[in-house]
Amino acid sequence: MKILVINCGSSSLKYQVLNMEDHSLLCKGLVERIAADGSVLTHTKIGLDEKKKVEAPMADHTAAISYVLEALVDPKFGVVASMDEIGAVGHRVLHGGEAFTASTLVTPEVEAAIEDCIPLGPLHNPANLMGIRACQGLMPNTPQVAVFDTAFHQSMPAESFIYPLPYEYYEKYHVRRYGFHGTSHRYITLRAAAMLGKKPEETSIISCHLGNGSSLCAVKNGKCYDTSMGLTPLEGLEMGTRCGDIDPAAVPFIAEREGLSFKDMDTIMNKKSGLLGVSGVSGDARDVEEAANAGNYRAQLALDIFTHRVKHYIGAYIAEMNGVDAIVFTAGIGENSITSRENICRDMEALGIKIDPEKNKVRGRECVISADDSPVKILLIPTNEELMIAMDTYDIVTGK
Ligand code: ADP
Repeated sequence: MKILVINCGSSSLKYQVLNMEDHSLLCKGLVERIAADGSVLTHTKIGLDEKKKVEAPMADHTAAISYVLEALVDPKFGVVASMDEIGAVGHRVLHGGEAFTASTLVTPEVEAAIEDCIPLGPLHNPANLMGIRACQGLMPNTPQVAVFDTAFHQSMPAESFIYPLPYEYYEKYHVRRYGFHGTSHRYITLRAAAMLGKKPEETSIISCHLGNGSSLCAVKNGKCYDTSMGLTPLEGLEMGTRCGDIDPAAVPFIAEREGLSFKDMDTIMNKKSGLLGVSGVSGDARDVEEAANAGNYRAQLALDIFTHRVKHYIGAYIAEMNGVDAIVFTAGIGENSITSRENICRDMEALGIKIDPEKNKVRGRECVISADDSPVKILLIPTNEELMIAMDTYDIVTGK
């Protein structure tokens, strides 16, 4: 069976088609500037160097997806003879609130529940729904599956997810920790278990998803026990442009002095902070590393804060779980930044974490990078959220 995976943003859309017989990727693409001037689709068929580019007005997600479907059956760039060969569509959905603990077949009730979660995911859930509805319109006989970024974290105990605010805000507005990157953390858990030769339900790890957005997940016996992102993806680590944890009282303190609104502060914390805010150079870790290597103090400080916070959470999660089998690095920084991994794992022998600097000189492939005598293994696992979405979709539509 071939499965189309769709990840819709408000003005962009990413897609892949995977062959579930061998989990191979057949094609992938990106549509940018949906509902704006200059809409463009870029489609890559695996094995072909030449890309297909479509520049045409795309007024909405339905128009964008109709161009995607055209590309999939294109005689040169396509991967199926007709759309009947696509057995199902898997959609990434940001927020499932407390309604979804696992991926699910899209039904009218599921759509309504995704709609109910819009206040919790105001930017993403409407776009995710647009993608689902566009596919339903264009492929009415093909099952659609929703895979939630939050679902994996629903196993957290209340002491991990309840904020110590007046309890009524949890009851009235569902204010609590939800966590994100759940599809990635789940994929990492399954691969880590396979690499360790253990059953997932007997595997305890700390999954470090370090990219533009970063989160750590404490996985206890295969299930999420705690995670660093919260009600929104702002909480936790220092990120490209997000501040992560700060004293909440800093928000009114700065707002009052600068004459800023809550909305202004939200923008500052999400878009102007993190590596960018501290370094003043960039939110991209590569640029910040380059500036730090050239002697830029604030760039080095931004990286040191990043390292410090990841260490902080690793220590906390080891304490929460009374030990772990492995620390796993994934996503853009985790998979590629040799220095970040080395800095994070430095001086952690007391916790049983000992990196092998030679083995660590590697990028983007599954491997063990801990020293042979390290009680806690350190793993590098490239994440593959699309494959996880496709696997869930396949299992749901085939009843596995
Ligand atoms: P997103 O959250 O957008 O999916 P990614 O997982 O693609 O992000 O991660 C992007 C981040 O990874 C950027 O900060 C980028 O600089 C960083 N990155 C990618 N390659 C390297 C590298 N070789 N060294 C350091 N950082 C890298």
